[in-house]
Amino acid sequence: MGLFGTEYCSICGQPAKGGKMRLKDGAVLCGDCARRISKAYRDYAEDNWEIEDYNKYLEIKRKSDEVRGRFKATHSFGSLNIDMSLGMFYILPDRKNASIEDEDVDLFSFRDICTHEFTLNGTSHSSGLLGGNEQYGYDVFLSFALSPIDLVMSPKIDNITVYTKKGEIVPDKKGYRADEELTSVELIFQWCTIAFNPEYEGTINKPDIPMELTSAMDLFMIDSLDKETAEKLKLKRNALIKVFHPDENNSEYSEAYAQKINNAYDTIKKAIAAL
Ligand SMILES: [Zn+2]
Repeated sequence: MGLFGTEYCSICGQPAKGGKMRLKDGAVLCGDCARRISKAYRDYAEDNWEIEDYNKYLEIKRKSDEVRGRFKATHSFGSLNIDMSLGMFYILPDRKNASIEDEDVDLFSFRDICTHEFTLNGTSHSSGLLGGNEQYGYDVFLSFALSPIDLVMSPKIDNITVYTKKGEIVPDKKGYRADEELTSVELIFQWCTIAFNPEYEGTINKPDIPMELTSAMDLFMIDSLDKETAEKLKLKRNALIKVFHPDENNSEYSEAYAQKINNAYDTIKKAIAAL
């Protein structure tokens, strides 16, 4: 190391010694400032962030800490927890005893990701036979990029067991069907990105206003009406209604949500019938 080798943190100005990190734009973070980035994103940040992104991230963290104590999960799927009243979610890291209290568990607002695409995908593994039915494990991943930072996450949110009989998915002992469960997660996530989109949010308490077809299709994740049938639409509606039923969901908006789902359903049903 040369005579002028001491580097100073671009954030706090302290000498950057152990655990320092360099961002894409060359900015240096001291160990303390680097550790404020949750482990899940640190590698990604190093390769992709500029100092501006770091500051935006801290803003997400600040909002996250503000609501941490108030978060009450209305829906949980594996490590994914959603609070519909707050419009926030978090994903628990894959380690023992991880909890929402942990500093590195970031809470995200659906308002921040509402314009970003997400995908739910999975890989299957370890299959076996049980009582004549085939069963296999299925790891579910939720991938998306967070706005305003291009913070890419693709955590594993669940490992579910899928039961099949002659190639068809069948319910488990409790009556759950893996594909229905996944549809619910997908729909609920989609729903939140729409419900908390600032463009739509103003109408959340006015569920009786007829929904525009494009919004309704977004909500039901329908790209084209040509592929949609009344039966498929009804299945999706039922899955949504089930997750928003007051028995399943303690959100203060559950009734408004249910009305809004039916409202969207009617809009799409009419459009399909008119084709
Ligand atoms: Zn620093």
